[in-house]
Amino acid sequence: MSLITAKKLFERSFQQNFSLAAFNVFNVESLQAVVEACEHEKSPAIIQISSGARKYMQDEILFLDYVKAILEKSKCSFVLHHDHIKSVEEAKKAVDMGFSSVMFDGSALPFEENVTRTREIVEYAHKKGVWVEAELGSIPGFEDEVFSEHAKFTDKESVNHFIEATGCDSLAVSVGTAHGGVLSAEHLPLHFDILEEILQVRRGYIFVLHGGASMPKELINKVNECGGKVPELKICSETDIAKACKMGVKKVNMDVDNFLAFTYELRKMLIENPQIYDPRKYLKCGKDGFKEEVIHKLKNVVCSSGVEVIE
Ligand SMILES: [Zn+2]
Repeated sequence: MSLITAKKLFERSFQQNFSLAAFNVFNVESLQAVVEACEHEKSPAIIQISSGARKYMQDEILFLDYVKAILEKSKCSFVLHHDHIKSVEEAKKAVDMGFSSVMFDGSALPFEENVTRTREIVEYAHKKGVWVEAELGSIPGFEDEVFSEHAKFTDKESVNHFIEATGCDSLAVSVGTAHGGVLSAEHLPLHFDILEEILQVRRGYIFVLHGGASMPKELINKVNECGGKVPELKICSETDIAKACKMGVKKVNMDVDNFLAFTYELRKMLIENPQIYDPRKYLKCGKDGFKEEVIHKLKNVVCSSGVEVIE
C-alpha cells in the first residue's frame, strides 16, 4: 500500500529536508511516466487529477479507480490530490470520490468569501481525514481549466488570518509564477522578498507554488525543430523554483515542461520513423520523454530523489 496521507508525507519532507513535486496525470501514459520516474528515483510525489483530466477520461470513477490501483501497487509513496476546484459542491464531491487531498481555489473571490467557502470545505473534508489546499492571491495565466488574467501577489498580512480562519492545511501563494506560460523572451522574476516574508509569517507551514514548470527555451526549441510551432513562452526559471524549495516551499506543481518533453519525443519519433503507425510505439516515446523530465524535476528542483518514505 503506497498511498499515504499528505500529513505524513509533509512531515517527512520537513524531517528529511526535501520538497514535493506535484504532477498532473490525465491518461495511462502520463500516469506511467510519473510512477516509473518516481520508482527510478526512489522518490515520493503528489499525483494530481484536474477537472479537465476527469472530463478527458470521460468515466471519472473508472479512471480514479485505475489510478489508485496503479499507485497502490507501486513501491513509492504517493498522495492522490485533486487540483483546482472552484466550487464548494465540487470540492465535497471530490472528497466523497476518495481523494485524500483536495485543492479549493477561491482566489478569484473577495477575501471574506474565499474564507467562508474554504472553511466550509475544510470542515467537511477534515471529518473524513482529507487534506485541503487553499489559495490566496492570484496566479496569472491559463492552464487546464484555470484562468486568471492578472497576478495579485499574496498579501503577507492576511496569510495568518486566512489560515487561522479557514483551518486549511496548505496554501498556494502568488509570488511570480504563472499557470501555463506567458509570452516573454526572459524568465519571469520570482519575488523572493515576498516569498521570504510569507514563509516567515508561519514557519513549518506548507506553502505551495503553482505554475512551477519553466518552459525552458531549449525544450521549446527542440519541439519546434521537429515541426512544432510553440511560441516563446516562459515562467520562472528552474533555478529560482529550486531556490524557493530550499527556502521552505514544500509543494510545487510542475506540468507544462512534461508536456513539452512528451511532445518533443513523439514528434521526433514520427519524423525519424515515418513508416510507423502503431500508436503504442510513438506514445511510448512520448511517455519516456515525460518520464525523463519528471526524473529531472525530482532530482534537481525538489530534491526528493532517494528519500523513499513508505510508512
Ligand atoms: Zn494551479
